[in-house]
Amino acid sequence: MLPESLKRISVDCRRDGARDRIKRQGADPGSLVHSWFGPAMLHGKRGHEFVVILTTRGCQHYYSDDLGCTMCGYNNDSAGETVPGDIIAGQFSAALAKHEKEIAGAGNVVAKVFNSGSFFDEKEIPAGVQEQVLASLASLPTVQEVAVESRPEFISQESLCRFKAKLREDQLGEVGIGLETWNDEIRLDFINKGFTRDQFMHVHEILKEHNVGTKVYLLLKPLFLDELAALIDARESMKHLLSLGVSTISINPAAIHANTVMERFWERGKYRPPWLWTAMLLLHEAFTLPARDMNTLVLCDPVAGGKPRGAHNCRDMACNQRALAIIKDAIEQQATVGGLDPRPVAGGAACACHLEWLDEMHF
Ligand code: SF4
Ligand SMILES: [Zn+2]
Repeated sequence: MLPESLKRISVDCRRDGARDRIKRQGADPGSLVHSWFGPAMLHGKRGHEFVVILTTRGCQHYYSDDLGCTMCGYNNDSAGETVPGDIIAGQFSAALAKHEKEIAGAGNVVAKVFNSGSFFDEKEIPAGVQEQVLASLASLPTVQEVAVESRPEFISQESLCRFKAKLREDQLGEVGIGLETWNDEIRLDFINKGFTRDQFMHVHEILKEHNVGTKVYLLLKPLFLDELAALIDARESMKHLLSLGVSTISINPAAIHANTVMERFWERGKYRPPWLWTAMLLLHEAFTLPARDMNTLVLCDPVAGGKPRGAHNCRDMACNQRALAIIKDAIEQQATVGGLDPRPVAGGAACACHLEWLDEMHF
């Protein structure tokens, strides 16, 4: 729950988001869906991803009196009002038509259907349209994994029966949940996520019952944590999740979205997105934990990586590009790689900002 001062900022952000949304209303309905196809890691193998971002009404948590999460600007792109089911189905068909040949020609494909909210929220996507989308994906032989996202309150026996019933037996279904951190205080008070770890654990059990994977998004450096506290929080979260045996952990270094509380602090110089050095160290630790469950896929693809609004090191693009390339390599290998551990002086000697980072981390 946000204190009054942050609530006021949050209300301002929502007003600015609504203003920007009105500007877009004349847009061609065909432009409502975003999709792409490209290389990606699947469970235990490399392949490709078919990603679809549907425009729906948007996340209920954002539009409620709770005002949404402090770092989330996804709702800048939501409709803010009910989008009819046939329009959503049309968005999905348009994306599929665009990438049909690539999907058919690839070996292992993971389909990721996102809607910047909750796939299982029937106010965003009617149940019948959820089924249509899943049935389409089940009919594509190269699609081996299907991932959607949802807040815990929409994950139920009913929604998962629907999910499983439409997928093929041999397709791995996965539901992504923005747990962000293992720590309830950070999740509730700093991120304003609005659900507890107990609620997450409850739905994780339901997902297991249905043989559906749990994908967890971890936020590296929520507001109000300094760099070292952010590393410690993400490290602790990672350890708990690895021992829990979730199917995927996606580490998301915070990025500055427009019209968010985080953006307001960043604009005033009160918040800096995480260093890429920190993301590297966290990944190195994840890949070298003795108790690591090798079935858990660890992902990290920093949004706006190397740019001021994303995780970055210094202003030297070569320094950022080097760090991003090492991260990409480690994710592809699912193992630590040379240069991933930034603590040894030799590891960071390529750039002077390494010393600044060491200093900030009190190493
Ligand atoms: S992060 Fe997820 S739960 Fe939070 S406001 Fe954004 S879409 Fe909703
Ligand atoms: Zn540097």
